[in-house]
Amino acid sequence: MAYDAIHDKMKEECGVFGIWAVGKSEEAANFTYLGLHALQHRGQESAGIVSTDGRALHVHRGMGLVAEIFNAETLAKLPGGAAIGHVRYSTAGASHIKNAQPIAVQYAGGAVAVAHNGNLLNAESLRAELEAQGSIFQTTSDTEVILHLMARVAPEGVAPGSTAHHAASVRAALKRVSGAYSVLFLTEHALIGARDPYGFRPLVLGKLKESWVLASETTALDLIEAQYVREVEPGEMVVIEDGGLRSERLDAPQRRRLGRCVFEQIYFARPDSILFGRSVHQIRAAFGEQLAKDHPISADVVIAVPDSGVPAAIGYARASGIPYDMGLVRSHYIGRTFIEPQQSIRHFGVKLKLNAVRSVLDGKRVIVVDDSIVRGTTSRKIVKMIRDAGAKEVHLRISSPPTVWPCYYGIDTPNRQELIAATHTVDEIASYVTANSLGYLSIEGLYAALGEERLGYCDACFTGNYLLKFPQARPAMPLRLVGG
Ligand code: SF4
Repeated sequence: MAYDAIHDKMKEECGVFGIWAVGKSEEAANFTYLGLHALQHRGQESAGIVSTDGRALHVHRGMGLVAEIFNAETLAKLPGGAAIGHVRYSTAGASHIKNAQPIAVQYAGGAVAVAHNGNLLNAESLRAELEAQGSIFQTTSDTEVILHLMARVAPEGVAPGSTAHHAASVRAALKRVSGAYSVLFLTEHALIGARDPYGFRPLVLGKLKESWVLASETTALDLIEAQYVREVEPGEMVVIEDGGLRSERLDAPQRRRLGRCVFEQIYFARPDSILFGRSVHQIRAAFGEQLAKDHPISADVVIAVPDSGVPAAIGYARASGIPYDMGLVRSHYIGRTFIEPQQSIRHFGVKLKLNAVRSVLDGKRVIVVDDSIVRGTTSRKIVKMIRDAGAKEVHLRISSPPTVWPCYYGIDTPNRQELIAATHTVDEIASYVTANSLGYLSIEGLYAALGEERLGYCDACFTGNYLLKFPQARPAMPLRLVGG
């Protein structure tokens, strides 16, 4: 399954977490375990932690959810005061332990582990070049390309194993890659974090007493009671050692044109996160308010497709004056068994996850708010479910523009032909999902609600305006390189 077909959503591919504890605390792996737990929504197929006690790197990775992979016994085997961790969602064919991260290796510069969120666009050509020079790859992940590039660097005037050597190798490797990366490196003596110059994927910096923390989202900081300090800036590299934190730029001046993923604000990030310096919940509610202005309709009740549609539905209700109620209830107890069901039970997928509340919907004109439509199959089932619960009318409102282009920057999307909005008009989609009306947030409405310039964001999956070139033909699996 190339994406989350039951829920008909594009999928975030990875989350990263790292902690550098000043002093000799042995807690780093435990904090990382908690941090990964708070980032579980960013990847559910594999997870891993690499820790260091200053003498060696210690690794544990596995397939499954964070709570399934780690227990007191495995965490006890990850000693030391610093660690990085990774959660990963993989595409078909690449769901294998060998692609789980962090990847830990020994190279001329010493021991290093890497955890990556994003997707490198020139990974295939770099890999071909490196293989021609004799490199042997252990994974099909693009992330490993960074390690091989690091191994080819011979920085002058710095001792192998020193932080200066590692930092110079990282700097040189990242100069050669193009694409989306929020990436963490752990050595025996330092934690290094970097974000690509466009800032496609998020990365935040936090502080827990004297320890520095790096994480994909602030929810990971909240869980361990760390303070949010700031974002790692697009194009910034931070090097954290016992002596403190040092920041440098990977590119020359800070560019005005950024590519922060606007879909993180719409759907991927948790609503309790501060993302790109803003409250995700507040922004989603503002999308809903704008949607109510752009696509008003007379109705009796506003409901959400839970959980991701809730903030926008609250905003829609607030702006329209129509009461918000809980018309759909989500089951939180679906195991991963149902993430990839057999065809015979796939029909029940949506019903397993959602159920309609007849007392809210019976005899009502209903506005149902969701964050996005990918193929439309789930929306159709949800509209039917609402009608079956007695709704007189069902008006579907989407708090993002139509998704018409695939993502190449670290989000797993189906082929363009499978994106319903790429091949159908809004009226045709409304007819397919059997809604009385359908309204999407416009791209202008999106930025009006954000209150920010388009120059700060990537919106390529809505506009086709790709900020970085990508290979024209994606090779068939399993050769496709997938991001972390
Ligand atoms: Fe995000 Fe869409 Fe850009 Fe991908 S193409 S980075 S999902 S806004």
